[in-house]
Amino acid sequence: MIRLRRLQPLKSWNTFGIAETATYGTVCTRVEQLQSLCRRRELHGLPLLPLGAGSNVLFAEPFPGVVVRVRLRGIRCIAESAHEVLVEAAAGEPWHNFVRTCLTQGWYGLENLALIPGTVGAAPVHNIGAYGVEVAEFLEGVELLEYESGQLFWLPAAELGLGYRSSRLRTELLGRGILTRVRFRLLRRPHPRAEYPALAALLERERVRHPTPWDIFHAVCRLRRQRLPNPRRLPNAGSFFRNPIVPACWAQELRQRYPELPLFPAGADSVKIPAAWLIEQCGWKGYRRGNVGVAPQHALVLVNYGGASGREILQLAREIARSVWERFRIRLEPEVLILPAQAWQP
Ligand code: NAP
Repeated sequence: MIRLRRLQPLKSWNTFGIAETATYGTVCTRVEQLQSLCRRRELHGLPLLPLGAGSNVLFAEPFPGVVVRVRLRGIRCIAESAHEVLVEAAAGEPWHNFVRTCLTQGWYGLENLALIPGTVGAAPVHNIGAYGVEVAEFLEGVELLEYESGQLFWLPAAELGLGYRSSRLRTELLGRGILTRVRFRLLRRPHPRAEYPALAALLERERVRHPTPWDIFHAVCRLRRQRLPNPRRLPNAGSFFRNPIVPACWAQELRQRYPELPLFPAGADSVKIPAAWLIEQCGWKGYRRGNVGVAPQHALVLVNYGGASGREILQLAREIARSVWERFRIRLEPEVLILPAQAWQP
C-alpha cells in the first residue's frame, strides 16, 4: 500500500531548502511499494524522480510528476574471502552511516568518503569521490527496478559508464528505473590512502605516522567540517559545479598567463582544474546577494541564506559560470542535478 500526496511540499526533501512542490510525492520503505507505484495507472506518463537525501538537486520549478523518497534500509555481507568482502546495502541507507558501519565491521576502503551527504543509492549515480578515492573503485553492481516492467535486475559496475563524478545512471538510464540495492567489494585488510595533500597535511600536523582506516575517517570528517557549511544550518547542495577537465596543451597555455593555476592529471592528455580556484579568482568567494550567495569558506558551494527560490540560485550560478567563461574560456558544468535540466543555460 502506498500513499500519494498531491502537491507534495519539497522544502524538507532537498538540502538547498527550496520550497517548490511536486504534483505527487510519496515515501517508500519497501521494494513492493516501489513496484506498486510502477503499476499505478493514473501515474503513467508522469515523470518519476527518486530522491535519497535530496542533497544534489536544485528545483528551479514545481516538479510536474511523482517524487519518491527512497527509504529502503539494510546492510549485509553476501560473501567473503580472506582478502575481500561483498557487501550489499539498500539504496536508502544514509551514506555516512554506511561508511561507519563498514569500518565497524572491519570492511575497509570507503573511509576517505566519510561524511559525504546523501544515500547509498546516490553514490554510484554521481560516482562520488573525495580525498583521493572514488566509489567506482569498490562498486560491484546495482539493482534497478525498471519503471515499465516493474522488474528488478542487476547491472554490473562495468556497464555503468562510471567516470569523473558521472555515470550512465544520471544520463541515459536516468528515466529507466529506481536504484534499490548496491553491492560493494571491500577489503578485509586495512589499506589506508593518505596521499591526498590536505589529508596528508592534517595527519602530519597531528603526528599520525601510520594512519589506520579510523584515523583517515576522523581526519576526513574534520576536514569536511572545517571547509563545508552544514546544510542543516546553511542550506546547500555541496559542490555546485564539477571540476572542469580540459586538454593538457590548452591548460599549459593558460598556465603561462596564470602561473599559479592548479592542474591535476586526468587521463592521458587531459588535466583537471579546480572549479573553486576559477570561481575564487573571479571574486565570488563569500559573495552574498539577498537570499543567495557563495559560501565564505568554499567557493564551490552555493548557499540559500533563507527563503531563496531555485531560480535565484540558478541565476547566481549562471553569472558565476559566465564570469569564469569570460575570464578563462572554461565552461563550468553543474554537478548538481537541475530540474528541469533545460533551466540551465549559462
Ligand atoms: P582542495 O583540496 O581544495 O582541492 C581542490 C580540487 O583540486 C579538489 O576538488 C580536487 O579534485 C583537486 N585536487 C586537489 N589535490 C589533488 C590531487 N592530489 N590529485 C587530484 N586532484 C586533486 O579540495 P576541497 O574542495 O577541499 O575538497 C576536498 C575533497 O573533498 C575533494 O576530493 C573533493 O572532491 C571532495 N569534496 C566533495 C564535495 C561534494 O559535495 N561532492 C564537496 C567538497 C569537497 P577532486 O574533487 O577530483 O578530488
